[in-house]
Amino acid sequence: MQESKNPYQNEKRYQSYSEYLKGIFGSRVQKLSIDAGFTCPNRDGSIGRGGCIYCNNEGFSPSYCHAAKSITQQIQEGIEFHSVRYRRAQQYLAYFQSYTNTYASVEKLEKMYNEALSFNDVAGLVIGTRPDCVNNEILDLIERISKKVYVIIEYGVETTNEETLITINRGHSYQLAKEIIHETARRNIKTGAHFIINLPGEPANTFIQQIDEISALPLTSIKFHQLQVLRNTVLEKKYKSDPSIFKPITLEEYLDIIIEIVEHLNPNIVIERIASEVPPRHLVAGNWGLIRYTEVARLFENKMAEKNTWQGKYYKK
Ligand code: SF4
Repeated sequence: MQESKNPYQNEKRYQSYSEYLKGIFGSRVQKLSIDAGFTCPNRDGSIGRGGCIYCNNEGFSPSYCHAAKSITQQIQEGIEFHSVRYRRAQQYLAYFQSYTNTYASVEKLEKMYNEALSFNDVAGLVIGTRPDCVNNEILDLIERISKKVYVIIEYGVETTNEETLITINRGHSYQLAKEIIHETARRNIKTGAHFIINLPGEPANTFIQQIDEISALPLTSIKFHQLQVLRNTVLEKKYKSDPSIFKPITLEEYLDIIIEIVEHLNPNIVIERIASEVPPRHLVAGNWGLIRYTEVARLFENKMAEKNTWQGKYYKK
């Protein structure tokens, strides 16, 4: 296999999101999660019912983030929460995180995004959504905002495999996700994507087969999560009646797999996350214990160094 040279001079052997944001803003930037009260078309019946089989959006948000509070209140409390924790001046990105954050009229979206941007400390927006929940009008709005401040749209893509998307009841195709990612990037809007490793029918060690396709997408950033079976999900029921639907992998196994993925990933794509972190009490299967994400990231970085490897080492253009 052909190798590139290690282009990373620092201890992180990949394009990390924190360094990327520091490069843009000149200092540490903190994301503030917001639950703006959106729902999801894959749960309310307009696209599907029941949602993606692994979906359980309850219980993982920070304490300040709750739809019963206004966007203004969530941002005020979020800034307070983080300034106590980190005790230093920061800039913030308002992260429209819960459910589908473009699932409203353009007028309503504009009002919500502007409410977040009215804070001096809020330097931009991160908008999490589904690829089938944007249209030209919404992209026009976000494009206009992105000419003034930092904005990234993060699409849940999950897999490039059309059959798996049906199995997980995702409600959209990969083909559509690909087209929307290209259209978003064509408008010079920063574009992120989220993928899940170890989905039913896709053993974790086969995800590598998707990486050339993913590397060819015009992405600014990427997030990877390992599948976990959460309580109160369709997946929990399916797993309990047929445990062969999900084969948990250990953290050690996962680190080897994610490193191989990163070695083949386009080195221009910034890596925002390599794994998810869910409190063990919410888990039915896929539990790595009480380990925090920062520790998983540290183990990943150490293992990359041990293996003398880096992002894009085996990337093929
Ligand atoms: S798109 Fe997101 S919020 Fe909607 S059902 Fe799927 S995981 Fe849940």
